[in-house]
Amino acid sequence: MTISDAVQRIAARGYGPARTARDPVNPAMINNWLEALGDTNPRYAAGGVAPPAMTQVWTMRGLHPRAEPDDPLAAMTGALDEAGFTSVVATNCSQTYHRGVRLGERLAVRSRLVEVAGPKRTALGEGWFVTTESIWYSGDEPVATMVFRVLKFRPDTAPPAASASAEALRPAVSQDTAFFWAGTARRDLLVQRCEACGRLRHPPGPACPDCGATRLDHVPARGTGTVYSYVVHHHPPVPGHRCPFVVVLVELPEGVRMVGELLDASPDEVRIGSPVRVEFVRIDDELTLPAWRLEPS
Ligand code: ZN
Repeated sequence: MTISDAVQRIAARGYGPARTARDPVNPAMINNWLEALGDTNPRYAAGGVAPPAMTQVWTMRGLHPRAEPDDPLAAMTGALDEAGFTSVVATNCSQTYHRGVRLGERLAVRSRLVEVAGPKRTALGEGWFVTTESIWYSGDEPVATMVFRVLKFRPDTAPPAASASAEALRPAVSQDTAFFWAGTARRDLLVQRCEACGRLRHPPGPACPDCGATRLDHVPARGTGTVYSYVVHHHPPVPGHRCPFVVVLVELPEGVRMVGELLDASPDEVRIGSPVRVEFVRIDDELTLPAWRLEPS
């Protein structure tokens, strides 16, 4: 069956069967949601009415969803999966609240397929924009409507050109960080300092996090430190590197921490607290990276 056949068949069905919420609107779920979102609106904390933005929460499918062949979005997703458009990314969502819902109401949701547009070329790969509309009901009364669009796409399987991916991995140089990269090019490791209160910080930023001053200079670091933490990078491949390699977070005696590669070290040589010394790795005329090497302890 072609994709346009599937669209016609599924759209013609209109709204799918109602899916009823597992639980009625309840204070425990509301409180968890308020806490997660940091919403302190007393209107909700006092109970009685649920935050409208929670609407979709009440009918979430949970960790072990049942197969729902009659659900329009599930049916369309299945048809696109079969045609090789297996990846999904949500693109936009618009919700309309018709009235607040109160404790004890048990919602149900029905959805229909509105439109499938494509195939379109996108940065992620070729795909189809699938738009659905869902309506939440309390009894027969609609309480909220959502128009939801996802892109179902065929992932581009060709790896990006090495030069393109290396470009994407370069640190962004801004007005705030330019001094740091100018320093590494001269084989100096510099730490930003607040001119007002003397606080050192890394990474550099536009204002002192302690006193708010924006007059900032920098001081040279000794170039030594200890491993505060580290990761072993196995995947994905990084241009110019052989995996696995070690990336360390180094605590400097000046009191700041910096991230960098640990050069020529196997993962089992590094320990929390290992002493390290900075080295400078020249990438090209514009970029020299600070990196670290284990010191004999
Ligand atoms: Zn300050």
